[in-house]
Amino acid sequence: MTDSYDVICIGGAAIGAAVAYYLTENPDFDGTVGVIEPDPSYDLAQTSRAQNSIREQFSHPVNIAISQYGLDFIDNFVENVQVEGQAPELNYRGTGYLFLARDDNDLENFEKQMKIQHECGAMTRMLTPAQVAEEFPYMDSTQLAGARMGSMREGSFDGWAFFQGYRQRAIHNGAEYITDRVVDVDVADGRVTGVVLESGRRISAGHVVNTAGPRAKQIAEMVGLDLPVEPRARTSFVFDCRTKIEHNVPLTITPEGVHFRREQHHYMTGGVPDPDETIAYDDWEIRHDEFEEQIWPTVAKYVPVFDQIGKVTSWGGQYAYNTLDHNLIIGADADLPNFLFANGFSGHGLQQGPAVGRAVSELITYGEFRTIDMSVLSYDRIRNNQPVHELVVI
Ligand SMILES: Cc1cc2nc3c(=O)[nH]c(=O)nc-3n(C[C@H](O)[C@H](O)[C@H](O)COP(=O)(O)OP(=O)(O)OC[C@H]3O[C@@H](n4cnc5c(N)ncnc54)[C@H](O)[C@@H]3O)c2cc1C
Repeated sequence: MTDSYDVICIGGAAIGAAVAYYLTENPDFDGTVGVIEPDPSYDLAQTSRAQNSIREQFSHPVNIAISQYGLDFIDNFVENVQVEGQAPELNYRGTGYLFLARDDNDLENFEKQMKIQHECGAMTRMLTPAQVAEEFPYMDSTQLAGARMGSMREGSFDGWAFFQGYRQRAIHNGAEYITDRVVDVDVADGRVTGVVLESGRRISAGHVVNTAGPRAKQIAEMVGLDLPVEPRARTSFVFDCRTKIEHNVPLTITPEGVHFRREQHHYMTGGVPDPDETIAYDDWEIRHDEFEEQIWPTVAKYVPVFDQIGKVTSWGGQYAYNTLDHNLIIGADADLPNFLFANGFSGHGLQQGPAVGRAVSELITYGEFRTIDMSVLSYDRIRNNQPVHELVVI
């Protein structure tokens, strides 16, 4: 194994794998790629604990473009990731996302966001309560002012297959995964020169990419930079319902911030804990109370048959939460040009992986964005404390 790579990714889950994939797919990049990942099971990574959905319904054009790139990637998934004719089964289900509005204020915001979505080519549409009742007859629409529905391009997939697809292809292309943990990053004369591993090994690098998920701030501190990213608890629950719902159950977001959707023969749900505060890096606890006190009453309020449900399973998760503006942070600090961030996805990182992996590979190979201009999301805004708010955060 070499002790020098042109590019090292710190963290080998969805984003590290996507960066490795796009670098090794690009004929203009002829360097070597090493990915440092301490846990090959990925048991305590967001990537294995996500809810695996993709949407166009964002409020910022750049996020819509990023997800549309992800949708195109999914459309051609097998071709994109196959190795000797084999690709993981993605099992994509296009169901749309349904955002419920409680009052005129919600409706006004939804319409403003929809205008931006339409300008970006997303086929979202407003629904009156009567239209909600017609399309989703299992829902109690009497307490709604209306809703916004996305196109059936939006939907859910097997997130593990998605991640393994580009990981396996990157390895096939020559990327090397190293089972170890980065404990320090070497810096000299305004450039990173390599990483130090827990095993004591030292690896030199031309570029280093921070793809460490909720621990990204720890990595940033190793090079003396601040990153407003912290772990926040997000528990997932799967439940069964006694009454079978024959209609589409899209990923539905209630005004209280609870979301639910059909997941195979069951339903998947989650919400935002109250209070929503930073947690310890090793806290992957299931917040059982959240289901009883917050989530179940809310889903049953909008879908009366959800009054009779049984919990099937649950798991604890973390969001790598960007406290400045809930948006991803990409690119380098001007004073450290070969150390790149790809962090702070705040719950959107699976769907953003393809576009962000490609964008980071372009920054490294060409020194600029070529496919989607993400400069508005660059690290500069962190340094200058200039948030770029995304209003549709789930
Ligand atoms: C409940 C839940 C639901 C979600 N739902 C969705 C969804 O529907 N759609 C969507 O797009 N996204 C969703 N997400 C978000 C998505 O899972 C993440 O944004 C995405 O997986 C981020 O991938 P990552 O590689 O940045 O981070 P992670 O998957 O967290 O991986 C980071 C990796 O870095 C490694 N690492 C940490 N420290 C070091 C170190 N010092 N040295 C080396 N490696 C290190 C870790 O071991 C880990 O494997 C959800 C997340 C959760 C928790």
